[in-house]
Amino acid sequence: MTQFILSIDQGTTSSRAIVFDHSASIVASGQLEHRQHFPRAGWVEHDAIEIWDNVRQAVGLALTRANLTHTDIAAVGLTNQRETTVVWNRHTGIPVCRAIVWQDTRTQRIVAELAREHGVDRYKSAVGLPLATYFAGPKVRWILDNIPGARESADNGDLLFGTMDTWILWNLTGGVDGGIHVTDVTNASRTMLMGLESLAWDESIVADLGIPLSMLPEIRSSAEVYGFGREHGMLPGVPIAGVLGDQQAATFGQACFREGMAKNTYGTGNFLLLNTGETPVHSQNGLITTVCYQIGDAPAVYALEGSIAVTGSLVQWLRDNMGMFADAPDVETLAREVDDNGGAYFVPAFSGLFAPYWRPDARGALLGLTRFVTKQHVARAALEATAFQTREVVAAMNADSGIPLAELRVDGGMVANELLMQFQADQLGVDVLRPTVIETTALGAAYAAGIAVGFWDGQESVTENWSEAQRWTPSMPVAEREKLFRNWKKAVSRTFSWVD
Ligand code: ADP
Repeated sequence: MTQFILSIDQGTTSSRAIVFDHSASIVASGQLEHRQHFPRAGWVEHDAIEIWDNVRQAVGLALTRANLTHTDIAAVGLTNQRETTVVWNRHTGIPVCRAIVWQDTRTQRIVAELAREHGVDRYKSAVGLPLATYFAGPKVRWILDNIPGARESADNGDLLFGTMDTWILWNLTGGVDGGIHVTDVTNASRTMLMGLESLAWDESIVADLGIPLSMLPEIRSSAEVYGFGREHGMLPGVPIAGVLGDQQAATFGQACFREGMAKNTYGTGNFLLLNTGETPVHSQNGLITTVCYQIGDAPAVYALEGSIAVTGSLVQWLRDNMGMFADAPDVETLAREVDDNGGAYFVPAFSGLFAPYWRPDARGALLGLTRFVTKQHVARAALEATAFQTREVVAAMNADSGIPLAELRVDGGMVANELLMQFQADQLGVDVLRPTVIETTALGAAYAAGIAVGFWDGQESVTENWSEAQRWTPSMPVAEREKLFRNWKKAVSRTFSWVD
């Protein structure tokens, strides 16, 4: 019997492959970072070929380290950075340009044009999303309008569009030699092109954006056998059986299966998802509505999501652009050298502001500066920004659902930061808890694939395997926490209308 599931996690900063055993413990992993390209202010690009190479290498590393071959793998699950857009030629397998990353704001003009007569909520009731640079549809439009020859090739049926899941699946299953062109409902729900209830492409929106239907992948559930690893590849004949966007995968891996359960992932950005059951709930408070997962033929389950563009990437920015420290964890050492933020507030509106504001016109600002403020205070303000932004999203969720969140399950790279996690509990006034396996994204995709092929019985196995490793409990006096939060809100209001 094959004993393992391989999960591929194609993230914003790196690609990972992780082998899980039947108890959902990590056996071995491989990881490679890819280059971030910033060719102009507001532009963020990845090289899709480099990413595919990295995925293959990561899989090779994970299998070698686990001392396994493809015959030991029961199924492959795939999870990915969402919205990042690849357009490639179906005959050559070569992308027409670099992938446009979710944080990229170049589509601001396209989005403003679409919003001009009907407002940013023009498609919201159909797709659950406001018009924003974040989503994939406008990025495809930009490529067709701006890359020489792209529009003509697309009209001839030569080009394919995909988010990273689709690009990797196509390559894994054969590429130009019969690769399958599919996506799952969770990734499709981030394009602004899929009807939330029909789970099919909304042809009128697709037409408004001027995208040929022939470019779009087939939409499938999050857990089913989509295809098999290509002959002569690394995973020949192995079923690829689970696909979820990274945040939905983390929600699945955190076993948030009941209505009202929520998780928050602290990575490049922060993403809080609240399971709302089988009916999509439309937010009155700046959240978006998205598909959480669909297991085979079962009905889709929906989520309300609070997406925050910049959290961990602010730590990267302090490290790389400001040269303030050498490694991301050093931000905590620095922040601990002072007792508080010294009056400084850092609003990292580098890609505008996402939830709950949706202000593409905002830009980053460091406020409250005096001669007293040191780089230690700035480090602290950067960490606090993550917790304040999360609190704003939680407040919106509480208002939308009418039921205050009782506790918050967390994961992602930043949860290693104890100072941040304590401050988060203090700001929210509820317990924050971290599970034993914090690779919940890869784990969620592994579970989807394992359930599809019968390696695990069902979602009960996920719930049984989940265990708490650490808990942070609020301890800050209420008056202090409210004063800090009021100042934060004031700081946010100062970042609006910077870009015309
Ligand atoms: P992603 O999946 O989005 O690529 P990860 O979950 O791997 O991100 O988290 C990486 C992010 O977490 C980076 O932006 C990094 O700056 C940040 N990070 C990692 N360790 C720490 C730490 N100890 N304190 C604060 N931020 C950290």
